[in-house]
Amino acid sequence: MISQPTLPAYWDPVALERDMRRIFQYCLDCRMCVTLCHAFPELFKRVDAKGEDASVLDAADMRAVGDLCNGCKLCYPKCPYTPPHAWDLDFPRLVLRAKAVESRRSGISFQDRMLSRPEIIGRLSRPVAPVVNALNRHGGFRALLEKLTGIHRETPLPAFHRETFAAWVARRGTRPAAGEPAGRVALFYTCTVNYHAPEVGRATVEVLEQNRIEIRVPPQVCCGMPNLDCGDVEAATAAARQNLGRLYPLVQAGYDIVTPGPSCSFMLRQEYPLLADTLEARQVAAHTFDLCEYLMRLHAQGKLDTNFPDHPGAVVYHLPCHLKAQNIGYKSRDLMQVAGATVQMIERCCGHDGTWSMRTAHFDQSMKMGRRLFEAVREAGAPMAASDCVLAQLQIQKGTGILPLHPIQVIHRAYGLCRGTL
Ligand code: SF4
Ligand code: SF4
Repeated sequence: MISQPTLPAYWDPVALERDMRRIFQYCLDCRMCVTLCHAFPELFKRVDAKGEDASVLDAADMRAVGDLCNGCKLCYPKCPYTPPHAWDLDFPRLVLRAKAVESRRSGISFQDRMLSRPEIIGRLSRPVAPVVNALNRHGGFRALLEKLTGIHRETPLPAFHRETFAAWVARRGTRPAAGEPAGRVALFYTCTVNYHAPEVGRATVEVLEQNRIEIRVPPQVCCGMPNLDCGDVEAATAAARQNLGRLYPLVQAGYDIVTPGPSCSFMLRQEYPLLADTLEARQVAAHTFDLCEYLMRLHAQGKLDTNFPDHPGAVVYHLPCHLKAQNIGYKSRDLMQVAGATVQMIERCCGHDGTWSMRTAHFDQSMKMGRRLFEAVREAGAPMAASDCVLAQLQIQKGTGILPLHPIQVIHRAYGLCRGTL
């Protein structure tokens, strides 16, 4: 299997090149994904300019194609040749494998090391959050930061907060349901929510409590997606093992793992079983749910509190790519509709995709990729916008001036739980 880092062939440069030519050739013959991103047009353009098939591609061509893949995963659920098909075609993981082999050969750059450690940056920034936030808005500082780190001066950086979500929940605790709970949840709150959007975590806890869910908040580390973004498979595997060690005992004790972050639920469900290849990883994956997916399961079981005193009205909703790639339907949209919202859903990539768009090499391209989404959000003219991905929210704000909420905040408001603190 081409995407299994536990197999020696994964790391063999000769086997990698063979797999790249083989898979690129299938894509050249098919060309169905040409409109999804810039990577496929680049592949087709380079082959068409030089010859007829993938044999004309050299190492620079292959690197150029891979460099334009931002890991949105949109091509995977579209492709008819993914495993268990005999062609074993997984374009995004092929690109990731190429980055991993290169990173092992030449090491991880300073920029990649920095971008892949959101927790260290969060821990250092939290105590001086107002100062860091002010600096991140200052043109001169951003120019210096760009020079030192390669983070584009215009990329929207998320704000830090003095009180993280983990600190809030440790101070407040979670409130037990009266009587038998409707479900038991271990919250994988994500480092983005912890450091940058604690209001999303607070809304999550209060909505789950409203629905008589028993909540545990286990210790956890970053899911490892930023490590994968820069090809550091070893660091991503170490993060997976650490989280699995905390989450698996809770799964065994009857808890479901619930997370408000699309990229993080994607990691737990789709990447951990490949990275760790253990029973623990497969069990955790099988019991992991996106937050709105979990609430819609409750609804299907007749257990969701559907008493929403404050109907949200019209909402324009962006479906994040990493949620779409999980093939779970449109649960956030459905949940907002249950709460009385009139939802216009937009299925377009925002172009952010983790750390890819932050780099000077990719920022302009990422804004181009998001253009059609920005236009659609503006044209919708809805009084409220929503997206499950905190980073997509920032990208949409950059492109439109409108800052979306997380759908759980829409639900929180619809329950009348918002007391001006979120
Ligand atoms: S990834 Fe699959 S569907 Fe997309 S172009 Fe390649 S072969 Fe076709
Ligand atoms: S994962 Fe996204 S960016 Fe990468 S090749 Fe597929 S569609 Fe393009």
